[in-house]
Amino acid sequence: MKKHLYIVRHGETDLNKEGICQGQGCNIGLNEKGRQQAEKLADALQNIDFGAVYSSPLLRAAETAQIITRGRNVPVKYHDGLKEGNFGVAEGVKMSEVKTWSVYPKWCSHEPKYDTVHYDKGENKIQIRTRALQALKEICITEKNDNILLVSHSAIARLLNWCAGNFIQGVPNGAVYEFIYEDGNLTAVNNKLLLLSCCAPCSCAVIKTMAERGENFDVVFYNPNIRPYAEYIKRRDENERVCRHYGIDFIELEYDNERWCELTKGLENEPERGARCSVCFYMRLKRVMEYAKEKGYSAVGSVLGVSRWKNLTQVNAAAEQAAIETKMAYVHIEGRKNGMQELRGQLIKELNLYNQKYCGCKPFIKQEEK
Ligand code: SF4
Repeated sequence: MKKHLYIVRHGETDLNKEGICQGQGCNIGLNEKGRQQAEKLADALQNIDFGAVYSSPLLRAAETAQIITRGRNVPVKYHDGLKEGNFGVAEGVKMSEVKTWSVYPKWCSHEPKYDTVHYDKGENKIQIRTRALQALKEICITEKNDNILLVSHSAIARLLNWCAGNFIQGVPNGAVYEFIYEDGNLTAVNNKLLLLSCCAPCSCAVIKTMAERGENFDVVFYNPNIRPYAEYIKRRDENERVCRHYGIDFIELEYDNERWCELTKGLENEPERGARCSVCFYMRLKRVMEYAKEKGYSAVGSVLGVSRWKNLTQVNAAAEQAAIETKMAYVHIEGRKNGMQELRGQLIKELNLYNQKYCGCKPFIKQEEK
């Protein structure tokens, strides 16, 4: 039994717009933008002959499914296993507050040790994943047709991607993920990651680890923040050398330093980790996500937060914003913990890598070590 599954996250609601955690308890329909997102999905999926369409019974998913299937002779069926997670006390609370709770980073981590993490009175990740996989099994056994559309929610889409080894974080409204389901196993289709690298020292341990695990990825160098240009060339060439060493494709995007200067105008005197860095991260991540989308990559990751001089929360916030705007999945890449910093130091020596003494835009800020 082999099925081609298309898992969609519902369109936007007013609560999404206000940044409020919905879960199962906040059950409202789409707003105007959400309906437009569903219409766009209908266009994007128009050439796929769905033999069956299933949706979570929650209003925002049901309405999305109805819009996508308008004009098709396929009824929308509902399955409780596709419902959003029950987030307990977090439901109805602003995400900006939920993100300050100690449970939040553990909830977002794909590490198995956090699988039982949950919000008070809510479901944990094992419970959500188990019922979602059970739903897929029941649907795939019941349906004769190969192509099945499933309209669901962010936690379900994220956990199913994790089951397929695709460790995405943000799941934008209207995102669609393709999987092959066979003998209880889920495989992501077009599962190729684009890794944004800032330099050889920050990316070497990540590239080596991912290459040795056989992960499917390319490296992209988009760093118009680096000045002067000779320094940019030096870092680019060094990063390309590391990619060649591990047999990974290296892509260079444009050096549009003028645009970078325009976007960061007025922020010249901000310290490193200040407001200028947020703009800089956002600009680079957004451009790379747009490129990834155009070229058919399934997700973007980055090493922008690998250096201990960087504020990882700031990088993640910029990535989340860019992911929402481009509808491209962002994957957290571990570059600090689990021995990665030690491996980084070892490879810098082994490969004799050029290790710059400043981040990129402010040559006059001296750092003892990047
Ligand atoms: S310090 Fe680095 S991250 Fe911050 S703005 Fe400059 S180049 Fe960008």
